[in-house]
Amino acid sequence: MTIAAVIPTRAGARTTTTAVRIFPLHRITTEQRALLCAGQREAGAVYSACMQAHKIARQTHDPWPSYVDLHHLTKGRHPNLCAQSVQATCKAFDGTIKSTVANRKAGNTRIRYPWKERSFQPIRWPAQALQRTRDGTRFPLGGMGKHRRYVDLPIHLPRHAGACQVIWNHGQYELHVCVTQDVALEVPGNGRGCVDLGEIHAAALVTDTGTGLIVSGRGIRTIKQGRNRAIGELQKKQARCTRDSRQWMKYQRARDRINGKVERQVRDLRHKGSRLVIEQAKKEGVGELYIGNPDGVRRHKTGRHHNQRMSQWEYGTDMRYLKEKGARAGITVRTGPERSTSSTCPNPSCRHKQKVRGRRWVCRLCGGSWHRDLVGATNMFALAFGNASVVTVPERQNITYRRPGPVGLRQRGRAGNARRSRPDRGLRGTTIPTELITSAVGHPPLPGNARASRGRGPGARTMGVRDGHGSARAALA
Ligand SMILES: [Zn+2]
Repeated sequence: MTIAAVIPTRAGARTTTTAVRIFPLHRITTEQRALLCAGQREAGAVYSACMQAHKIARQTHDPWPSYVDLHHLTKGRHPNLCAQSVQATCKAFDGTIKSTVANRKAGNTRIRYPWKERSFQPIRWPAQALQRTRDGTRFPLGGMGKHRRYVDLPIHLPRHAGACQVIWNHGQYELHVCVTQDVALEVPGNGRGCVDLGEIHAAALVTDTGTGLIVSGRGIRTIKQGRNRAIGELQKKQARCTRDSRQWMKYQRARDRINGKVERQVRDLRHKGSRLVIEQAKKEGVGELYIGNPDGVRRHKTGRHHNQRMSQWEYGTDMRYLKEKGARAGITVRTGPERSTSSTCPNPSCRHKQKVRGRRWVCRLCGGSWHRDLVGATNMFALAFGNASVVTVPERQNITYRRPGPVGLRQRGRAGNARRSRPDRGLRGTTIPTELITSAVGHPPLPGNARASRGRGPGARTMGVRDGHGSARAALA
């Protein structure tokens, strides 16, 4: 292996990382729902018991309860959960205490120790508590012997599945499964790259090989703006109802549905976008990647519209995804300040500073003109790797523009447009393969179809909630 000799390996680094796979639980029976709900309440009781014990110890200056103490405190007292789930809840509480201690030691004293009772908590199971059956997985709940209760879900867990938890998210249950993933041991190369995160362009990558990649963030922004409008309308309608009345609950469910859908769509696009960045970095032999942390921009207060935009721009998630995907590809990813990188001329003999306007960066001193986000990423090299590593803005022919994925209906229904990657549909992909829909109905894959036909509650249409797939169905009919 001659290549291995040239390319450094990550000696001593971890060989695996964990990730979370999410399975939405759409089709559970009323009985299963009741069992899970009781389990969540019981987990809330476990949490509250731990919280009380810890709170009393804090107030009376007694030694704080350890995990073992919490275990003894809760043992045998929670009939709606299996023993391992009770222990897992105690362990999670113990973890919260440990991270709070660490945070407070680091100077973040605004973070408080747990002080509030919880009615609900996620139900947690360690890996060994789960039974793999022929039809899926069996999740134990409370009861002993022949009175033991289970929830059987038609989910085949991944081979390297670890601990699981069932959580309530935007009006539906979700199963979150920890999975172990391998980390690349070989570094793609000795190259360097810088990433500038943004709202209109989710990420701009410049490598020292002279290439640039711009991943569009417009799709994500569109989805969020649509969500803001729809939620605003529903809020107005809700304000005219009595709180917790039947009509109010209908609106609330509609809000949950919209929020859940937007969350899944945005997450999907973010994963796809960050993968594009890491793939390009790998292709260009980048071993070290620097991401500018836009913390400063976000703190800046400038009007309510700008503030809403800023608060909805999840650059922290982008940084996390890039770090995780980078680690898996063998790339060292670090973050740091990006001060004045986007307001300085990238021309090494000019370095004029000016305020940016519009999508192009036009220097008022030397007259140079470049793409705005690439300027930011280019200037970051000096900050990240020292002045010796200065690069120039990539030439036009070396810049790639990509969308992270299709948004809405524009590209979805186009004939012959095979999907490049699987969308974030959770179980739906396994229950109704898209090819079947295509062959049976005779039109291009339209994932919305399968979903819409399966009763989404009478409320959605009558309440004037915009249903993204409604118009497509009408067009096809
Ligand atoms: Zn200039």
